[in-house]
Amino acid sequence: MDAPYFTYSDSLIRRYGAKTYKITLSGGQTCPTRDGTFGPRKGWGGCSFCDVHGSASYFSNLRREMPVRLQLDAAAGAIRKRFKAEKFVAYFQSYTTTHQEIEEFKHRYDEAVAYPGVVRLAVGTRPDCLPEEILALLGTYLDRVDVQLELGVQSLQDEVLEWFDRGHDAACAIDGLERALAAAARFRAQGLPHELDVSAHLIIGAPMETDEDLIRMAQRLNAVGVQGVKLHHLHVLKKTKLERKFKAGEFPLLEMEEYFARAAVFLRHLDPGIVVHRTHGLAPHPEELVGPAWSAQKIHPVEQFKRWMQERGWRQGDLVHPA
Ligand code: SF4
Repeated sequence: MDAPYFTYSDSLIRRYGAKTYKITLSGGQTCPTRDGTFGPRKGWGGCSFCDVHGSASYFSNLRREMPVRLQLDAAAGAIRKRFKAEKFVAYFQSYTTTHQEIEEFKHRYDEAVAYPGVVRLAVGTRPDCLPEEILALLGTYLDRVDVQLELGVQSLQDEVLEWFDRGHDAACAIDGLERALAAAARFRAQGLPHELDVSAHLIIGAPMETDEDLIRMAQRLNAVGVQGVKLHHLHVLKKTKLERKFKAGEFPLLEMEEYFARAAVFLRHLDPGIVVHRTHGLAPHPEELVGPAWSAQKIHPVEQFKRWMQERGWRQGDLVHPA
């Protein structure tokens, strides 16, 4: 089905000429904002939506201690066999607060970039865990592979960020995006053969978020010039701060079509050249999901959403007005 938005898989086919698969790797790190080494206050305990496994890294945490090459062998072998694919994105969810960590990342990134078939290094982090040193490190790989930097922005509304207990505000998120994009422009000016792409991870569905807020967020991201967005609907996992609030009846969760309507408002105001890495999240372990129930389905909501947009004749960027 032709997607009504610019999908990540299409962007990879355009760039690499073939289906390219993302392999999630463990960088071995914990989140410094959960383990108490970094954060706005003592005992903060991390973001309100994040479960004990540290965001989406549950799968990779299982392989935390394995060398990167062996992790790649395991995943790439299966993908080669099943899909006959030969090109891969090596994806790390990483955090950084110290020079020592950067040295540790370098070692792991070097291994990933040297692996046969890896055409892109993807790294996720928080906007307040992005020193210039890490941007410089990412730039060193652009002679060999593309680099994709994914920043956990979540929202550009301070009230929502506070509710998520992110420990940073919207100005910090914009600063992180702008510094990363400025670094990408510097690398481009050096004539390096590969690109640094910058994308924003966003969560849609906080109870105080309005359609106007979503429109403003899309417009702000258009203006900043990100290359990608990754959407996640708000869901509640067990053993999170949100679970307590949800069970106390403090907020509702969106039904699937309610979420479609919110995501569509955002996408229709988003520049059509921005890659949509994902339109939904997935609870990787249904037994850990509090709600909504549709969060446990992987493919169905994505296909339904495409159809839902198409039935209305809507597309990404169809409400973007030329400046
Ligand atoms: S979502 Fe928040 S608490 Fe969870 S791993 Fe990311 S920064 Fe840490």
